[in-house]
Amino acid sequence: MTGDPLAARLRGFGSSVFVEMTELAIRTGAINLGQGFPDTGGPPGLLAAASAAVDAGHNQYPPVRGVADLRAAVAEHRARHYSTPYDPDEEVLITTGATCGIAAALLALCEPGAEVIVFDPCYDSYAAGIAMAAGVLRPVRLRAEETGFAFDPDELRAAVTPRTRMLLLNTPHNPTGKVFTAAELDLIAECCREHDLIAVTDEVHEHLVYDGAVTRSLAQWPGMRDRTLAISGAGKTFSVTGWKVGWVCGPAPLVAAVRAAHQYLTFNSGTAFQVAVAHGLREHMGWVADLRADLAARRDLLAEGMAKAGLTAFRAEGTYFLQVDARSWGYADGVEFCRDLPKAGVVAVPTVGFYQGADPPRSLVRFAFCKRPEVLAAAVEALCASR
Ligand SMILES: *Cc1c(COP(=O)(O)O)cnc(C)c1O
Repeated sequence: MTGDPLAARLRGFGSSVFVEMTELAIRTGAINLGQGFPDTGGPPGLLAAASAAVDAGHNQYPPVRGVADLRAAVAEHRARHYSTPYDPDEEVLITTGATCGIAAALLALCEPGAEVIVFDPCYDSYAAGIAMAAGVLRPVRLRAEETGFAFDPDELRAAVTPRTRMLLLNTPHNPTGKVFTAAELDLIAECCREHDLIAVTDEVHEHLVYDGAVTRSLAQWPGMRDRTLAISGAGKTFSVTGWKVGWVCGPAPLVAAVRAAHQYLTFNSGTAFQVAVAHGLREHMGWVADLRADLAARRDLLAEGMAKAGLTAFRAEGTYFLQVDARSWGYADGVEFCRDLPKAGVVAVPTVGFYQGADPPRSLVRFAFCKRPEVLAAAVEALCASR
């Protein structure tokens, strides 16, 4: 075989700066605040429920829609938190993580050439998912301002063309830590209604919001429930990112379309984990409230440490992530900053890797604070010492 065997539509998705930074952390032994996964376990009762489900014999294929009890628990959870009712049989689909739910939605609903509006920067699977569906990503820039990250409403309006099929919204937002405001959701909903767009909302960080912030779902907005696929999952809510149990809620015709694609991607997966997550959504939301409080404290620990180390950080309203401007240490380029940072004993990832549009800002860097307080304290100490 000669040349790169990777199909043309996936060129550029072969390997990422995230892989490079993870390898750097392993090679140098630096504290890894690059990759966003928690270093403590989920609720003990949830973990026990998964073991019990294996022992009880939940080890064969789940139904194509997902375990019925989990679909019921997801519908109860959506009704409780957002007052949006869904029929567990026709309007809820369990997926192999939120990522596969999003990929299936793109594959199911986009013709080749269909345009998908995405706020930029974005979670790295979106661009790859759109490419696999042979769609076209239309970025709308989230600008780093003093008060946080925000988009220009005119830029959103200008991104819509006759080929626009879908708007993919992630709130709370990875990698910026932004939680979209009600006023912003008004604008986004208006845009979707006016141009008859399908909204796909990635809400995996729905419970990880701080300082009394409220997570809102676009599906709650007038006229939006029946054009929105609300996607979430257990990974972030219960600190079990390896379980890959996600779900898609929406009107029956859209969910049926996603199901058609998802059944030929994985069919469905993780029966025992699904049984356990149903239990978790009903019994362990108190643990999630404690996690939220813990994460807020860890965010403060890291943010205060950054200030001490002379690094300018943006306020994280949600998620696991803090954005830092490397210019405060004299770096115009976040990639260069991240390559040097292991000498200070810490690894982070340059935010430029999450941007899809032209001329991305180069100086932003993402740090994860979903680590034990002693790990964050050691990272802060190392940063201060190396200054
Ligand atoms: C972590 C993350 C996901 C992944 O969810 P899975 O359920 O593990 O597939 C999806 N979207 C965003 C924004 C994330 O941060």
